[in-house]
Amino acid sequence: MEESAHRRGDKKVVAVVGGGLVGALNACFFAKRGFEVEVFETREDIRKAKVVKGRSINLALSHRGRQALKHVGMEDKIVSKGIPMNARMIHSLSGKQSPIPYGKKGQYILSVDRANLNKELLTEAETYPNTTLNFDHKLQDWRAETGLMTFARPDGSKTQTQADLIVGCDGAFSAVRKQFLRRSRFNYSQTYIPHGYMELTMPPRNGEFAMKPNYLHIWPRNTFMMIALPNLDKTFTCTLFMPFEEFEKITTGDEVIEFFQKYFPDAIPLIGAAALRRDYFRLPAQAMVSVKCSPYHIGDKCVLMGDAAHAVVPFYGQGMNAGFEDCIVFDEIMNQFNEDFSVVLPEYSRVRVPDDHAIADLAMYNYVEMRAHVNSKWFIFRKHVDNLLHLLMPKTIIPLYTMVTFTRTRYHVAVERWHWQDKVINRGLLLGAVGAAVGGSYLLIKNPPEINKLVITAEKIWNKMAALKTPPRVGAASQI
Ligand SMILES: Cc1cc2nc3c(=O)[nH]c(=O)nc-3n(C[C@H](O)[C@H](O)[C@H](O)COP(=O)(O)OP(=O)(O)OC[C@H]3O[C@@H](n4cnc5c(N)ncnc54)[C@H](O)[C@@H]3O)c2cc1C
Repeated sequence: MEESAHRRGDKKVVAVVGGGLVGALNACFFAKRGFEVEVFETREDIRKAKVVKGRSINLALSHRGRQALKHVGMEDKIVSKGIPMNARMIHSLSGKQSPIPYGKKGQYILSVDRANLNKELLTEAETYPNTTLNFDHKLQDWRAETGLMTFARPDGSKTQTQADLIVGCDGAFSAVRKQFLRRSRFNYSQTYIPHGYMELTMPPRNGEFAMKPNYLHIWPRNTFMMIALPNLDKTFTCTLFMPFEEFEKITTGDEVIEFFQKYFPDAIPLIGAAALRRDYFRLPAQAMVSVKCSPYHIGDKCVLMGDAAHAVVPFYGQGMNAGFEDCIVFDEIMNQFNEDFSVVLPEYSRVRVPDDHAIADLAMYNYVEMRAHVNSKWFIFRKHVDNLLHLLMPKTIIPLYTMVTFTRTRYHVAVERWHWQDKVINRGLLLGAVGAAVGGSYLLIKNPPEINKLVITAEKIWNKMAALKTPPRVGAASQI
C-alpha cells in the first residue's frame, strides 16, 4: 500500500473522485485556481479504451452547460462538434411530423457526443501542470476527519492518499456519498421510475441523415415514447423509454416488429427491420434513478457535485447541465469567500440544494409532459400562447423551458415564476373567454336586427350547401 502526502508546498490538494463529465470539468476549475488537483477514476483512460461503456451515447447541451465550458475556455471547441436542435419534431402515429420550437428564433440546444465530450474534458484537465489524472483507481473508503482515501486497483492492490478537499463527482451511485449516509442530519432519497430506456441506432440513408437533423425527434405515445438525437456521423441515436414490464413482454424479433408496426411505423424503414430484431435484444433496458440529498458537504473536507449530489431523470436534458452549473456556482462562492473551505462548503449547500431539488422535480414533471402532454391540443395551444406573450412582454412572461434551458435563472426561482405565470395566463385566458362570451351576448341582445342578418346569412349558407349536396336535376343545371 502506497501513501502520498497532502499539501505540496503551500498548495492545497483537491482530490476529484470520478473522471466523468462533471469530475473532468471540475478538475479544470480547481486547476485554474492553482490547487494541486488529483483526479481518481475507476475506469481505465477512455481515450485509450477500445470500448467506452457508459450511459446515453449523446446528450443535449444547453446554456448552463455552455456557460460552465466557457469558464474553462472549452465552449467553442465543444459547440463546434455539436449539432443544433432548434425544435422538437413530433411524430404522430400516422407518420405526420410537426415541429414545436424550443424558444425564439436562433435558440437551440445541442446534441453532443458523450464520450467525445468526456475525452476532451480529460485532455483539457491534463493541460494544467498542477493536475494529475489517476485512472484505474476505485474509491473504496475515505475518512472525513483526515481526508484519507483508500483506492482499489485492478490488480487487487490498494493505495491510500490524502487531500485537503475531496470533491465527490462519482455519479449516481457515489462511493463518496456513502460516508454522508453514516452521519446524522443527512437527508437522502432515491426513486427508481417504472420506466427503463434502450438505445437503438438509425443509420444514415444514402450517406445523409435519415430524418431532418436539426430536431430532437419525439414519438410520444402517452405511457411510453421514443426520442432521437442526431450524431456527427449522420446516425441518430433513438432512445425508447418504456415501463420495464412492457420491455419484458417483447421476447422475439417478430414481436419487436409487431410493436414498432403498431406504435412507431415510420421508424421501421429508417432503423431497418433486421437491425430492430437484432438490436432490441443486444442489451437489457437500463434503469433510471432520481437521487436527492442534503447537505452536499461535510465540514470543510468534502463536497458532492453532479449526479453524486443530484441524479435526475433525463427528461429535461438537464442532468449534465446542472452538474456543470454546480462547478460555476462553487467557483462563484470560492471568489466570494476567498477560497475558505470552512465557509464555502456550507454556503454551497445552502445555495445549491434548493436549485438541484427543483430540477429533479422538474425532470420528473417533464417525464409526463414529453410522452403525454405534447399530444394534447391544450398543451400546444398554451405553448403558442406562452411564446406569443414572451414575444410581447419578454421580461414579464418567460416560458419555463426557456428559463431552464436558455438562461441561468436559478432553477427554484424558475419554478416559482412558472407557477405565478401559469396562474396569471390561465386567469387571463378565462377572463378573455368570459369577456368574449359576455360581449358577444351583449352585442346580440343590443342589436337584434344584426342577429336577423346573421341568421339569414347562415340560412343562405345552409341552403347553398344543401343545394350542392342534392344532385342537380336534368334541365335544372343552368339554375346552379
Ligand atoms: C439516458 C440518459 C440521457 C441523458 N441525457 C442528458 C441530456 O440530454 N442532457 C443532460 O444534461 N444530461 C443528460 N443525462 C444526465 C447525464 O448523463 C448525467 O447527469 C451526467 O453524466 C452526470 O455526470 P457526472 O460526472 O456527475 O456522473 P457520471 O457521468 O456518472 O460520472 C461519474 C464518474 O465517476 C466514476 N466513478 C464511479 N464510482 C467511482 C469510484 N468509486 N471511484 C472512482 N471513480 C468512480 C465513473 O466511472 C464515472 O466516470 C442523461 C442521462 C441518461 C441516463
